[in-house]
Amino acid sequence: MKAVYPGSFDPLTYGHLDLIKRASQIFEQVIVVVGNNPQKKPVFSLEKRIELVKVAIKDFPNVCIDKFDGLIIDYVRDKNIKIVIRGLRAISDFEYEFQMALTNRKMDPEIETIFMMPDESYSYLSSKLIKEIASLGGDVSQFVPPFVEKELKHGYFSQNQREGKI
Ligand code: ADP
Repeated sequence: MKAVYPGSFDPLTYGHLDLIKRASQIFEQVIVVVGNNPQKKPVFSLEKRIELVKVAIKDFPNVCIDKFDGLIIDYVRDKNIKIVIRGLRAISDFEYEFQMALTNRKMDPEIETIFMMPDESYSYLSSKLIKEIASLGGDVSQFVPPFVEKELKHGYFSQNQREGKI
């Protein structure tokens, strides 16, 4: 069975990667779908977010990547996929995820949202927090892979920061 793991991945963290790994051990194929959550203004461009996810998944033969702008329910319907994976961290994720899962179910009862929990060491990790730590010059090496850390330190993120765009 195929599953879709949608998110903003702005940027990818070890929490996301932990979920990708877990999902890849359960499903035949996992499609990581990088999109734009209209409630969040991404800091990394879509291209950069995709590039970083691509590097992260290269060792998982049954994981691939796609992008999508719109409702994830439309994406899965179009691809004839029934499973959407979402991550649950602390209680803070629950309300939003609960609403979204049930709304999606109302829109298409055949689509099932599966919630997965990361290793507890990642259960407090968020892309937002990582960006805050990096913007203040903190060490994020425990939270993101080296190629993401590099981007946060020297790449696009810090360049935009210097130019006052972030
Ligand atoms: P979105 O904008 O769709 O919430 P995110 O990239 O923030 O995109 O998250 C994508 C999914 O991954 C969400 O279900 C989120 O709860 C989950 N997620 C994010 N960080 C973690 C983490 N540290 N552990 C487990 N799940 C996570």
